[in-house]
Parts: sequence; structure tokens; C-alpha cells
Amino acid sequence: MSQGGCNCGAVRYRIEGAPLSVAACHCSNCRRQSGAAYSVNIIVKASAITIEGELASYLDPDTSSGQPVLREYCGTCGSPIRSTPQADPRIVAVKAGTADAPGDFAPKLHIWTKSRLPWVEIPAGLPQFPENVG
Ligand SMILES: [Zn+2]
Ligand SMILES: [Zn+2]
Repeated sequence: MSQGGCNCGAVRYRIEGAPLSVAACHCSNCRRQSGAAYSVNIIVKASAITIEGELASYLDPDTSSGQPVLREYCGTCGSPIRSTPQADPRIVAVKAGTADAPGDFAPKLHIWTKSRLPWVEIPAGLPQFPENVG
């Protein structure tokens, strides 16, 4: 079980069980939304996360994959919380930087590395995918 939340405290969440994976995403849209070089995403079943508080959302239509992604964030402080691919909303991505213990979520793989920034080094031995996984 893991917990997390936004900067202002209006949104809190709880994740039951272990994540399915932890994926670092280098796509331009994750980069813009996170404001960071890449986004570390905790991949969980949609049913594994319970959220308290109001989330604002943006249906992101112009993604690298061509599949819209519902991006949810705290409407008060703007912290990004959850992304739901509309192609398969049963699996969601929770932004690892918002976890109370973000150090627990080291990326297990890197995706969309074709848009990786040139100064980002990916640790040797981690699987890399130019686009999405399979
Ligand atoms: Zn907030
Ligand atoms: Zn992405």
C-alpha cells in the first residue's frame, strides 16, 4: 500500500498492492505536464487507486501515440496526479513524484525514448522502448 497527494493537500490518494510496473515516459506531453525531463509513472489497475479530493482534468488529444489521455491534476495547486489512456482505461498511470515515498518507485523501464532529451542518461540494463511498450 502506498499513499501520496498534491502540494496543497486538497488531493490525497492510496494505492493498494504493488504496482504493475514503474515506467519513465519521455513523451513530449508527459514532459510538458510534469515540467520535468521525463515523467515517472506508477502503473496500476484503475481499481487499485482511491482518490480523495477534487481532481481537475484535461483530455489530452494530441499525444505521441495518437490515443487521447485523460490527465487529472489538483485544480488548486496543479500537481499532476493520474493519467488514464482512453484506449484502455482499466490501467492508469499515477505520477510517482506525488507519492509520499517516491524513492520506492525506481523506473523499471523507459518508454518513448525516441523523444528523450539528449542529456538524460538511462541506466544500463533497463529496457528501453522508442515508443510505447509492445
Ligand atoms: Zn493541491
Ligand atoms: Zn508520456
